Amino acid sequence: SPEALAALRSELAGRVALVEEPSRVRKRSRDFFWYSPVLNAQLNGLSADVVVEAGSEADVIAVASACARHGVPLTVRGGGTGNYGQAVPLQGGVLLDMSGLATIEWQRDGAVRTGPGIKMNRLDAELAPGGEEIRMHPSTKRTATIGGFIAGGSGGIGSVNYGQLRERGNIRAARVVTLEAEPKVLELTGDRVHGVAHAYGTTGIITALEMPLAPARPWIDVIVAFDDFLAAAECGLAVGRDAAIGKKLITPIAWPLPQWFTGLKAYCPEGQAILIAMIAEDTLPAFRARVAEAGGRITLETPLDDGPGSVPLYEYTWNHSTLQVLKTDRSWTYLQSLHPAEGLMESVAAMAARFPGEIVPHLELIEFAGKLTYAGIPLLKFTTEERLNAIIAEHEASGVWIANPHVYTLEDGTRHKRAETDQLGFKRLTDPAGLMNPGKMRSFTPADAEASLPA
Ligand code: FAD
Repeated sequence: SPEALAALRSELAGRVALVEEPSRVRKRSRDFFWYSPVLNAQLNGLSADVVVEAGSEADVIAVASACARHGVPLTVRGGGTGNYGQAVPLQGGVLLDMSGLATIEWQRDGAVRTGPGIKMNRLDAELAPGGEEIRMHPSTKRTATIGGFIAGGSGGIGSVNYGQLRERGNIRAARVVTLEAEPKVLELTGDRVHGVAHAYGTTGIITALEMPLAPARPWIDVIVAFDDFLAAAECGLAVGRDAAIGKKLITPIAWPLPQWFTGLKAYCPEGQAILIAMIAEDTLPAFRARVAEAGGRITLETPLDDGPGSVPLYEYTWNHSTLQVLKTDRSWTYLQSLHPAEGLMESVAAMAARFPGEIVPHLELIEFAGKLTYAGIPLLKFTTEERLNAIIAEHEASGVWIANPHVYTLEDGTRHKRAETDQLGFKRLTDPAGLMNPGKMRSFTPADAEASLPA
């Protein structure tokens, strides 16, 4: 209510950094939901009432307590690069910007402990002198926070080696502040971290993370051209299975998607499929041999550079490939799929042939439940929501899982991205009144809130 908001504002003013200017609040309340014409119609215009810029865990606790006591909704935000409105406040209230909690506590024993608000490219830059890097990052590494990745993302560059975030061991620990009048601070380890991982900020506020690391390697950005998309996909799989090749990214993409990669025109021959890869420098000879066997032609080999002013190849992969298209043509959108590991190439071939003119295949090789398989982020020509749902249903009927990116609730969109865990039960502990972006976790109902409140 306006009264509750006013009381909250006067309590927090002078104590934490507030942003009140409506245009700035509205801008900060958005993410990349507009990729989906369906979500754009549903979420465009939603906004918080006020933004709080947290600078410390003490700030987070003060805001959590104030929201709980005044009954004001709270939505957590990192870099605001989510695709399903994860950081869009559905019912107004406070938007809590976590990008100020960006301090690295320590790096040791193959792990790092850090504030959640650090951008992942800065994190890797800080880890480099110790000869280590984070195991995986989204293609938004340069703009997204590690906390937003854990709470809203699923995997990316590096998932070919380590699987997605949902796999055991990919997150070592998380420190979480609860949304209560007297907030608790919980230290989650082991499988308990999945109470808060990929929960879209509905089950507590992450104030620190402990992440396992990988040995840093000099990565080479590579593009290979192929006459045929399936040859690119076969080659990617062979590279993935070859233990002699160090890899971090394997991305087969069908023509005409590369026609939108304007920055890569010289390396993407007209009419050809491409394979984008990140290969460890010392294993390039083995990689080149695989490519030659598969009939591919290397068009670019250059050291990875994701510093200011340069564009790494990973910004053409994962969901960045969709962004490259949307820059010039908004009539396209995308899907997120997972092919079965058994009969993988048959499944890939069947789906590549199934929707001519409507779907352009784009695959990402990942480890899933201990096996290499292809996830897909195909480009999709949008006509109607009915047709979109029919295409999704056809995939599912063919054994290809879809994590639907055109829905905004946690439950509807996260199949095969979330670990099996009782997030609803965890929410009753961490957000008993259901104030964390109400409506995002739709299985939490007012009855849940009543049931979790003390008698
Ligand atoms: P935000 O968007 O700010 O937040 C994401 C979610 O996390 C929200 O629900 C928010 O409430 C919650 N949250 C944020 N911080 C905290 C916290 N401290 N405590 C509790 N909850 C919190 N995703 C992938 O997984 N892989 C990809 O390769 C990938 N590629 C992308 C490419 C493009 C072009 C775009 C636009 C998006 C892509 N994404 C991808 C989605 C998104 O960029 C990532 O998931 C990213 O890691 C989100 O981080 P963020 O800091 O922007 O989080």
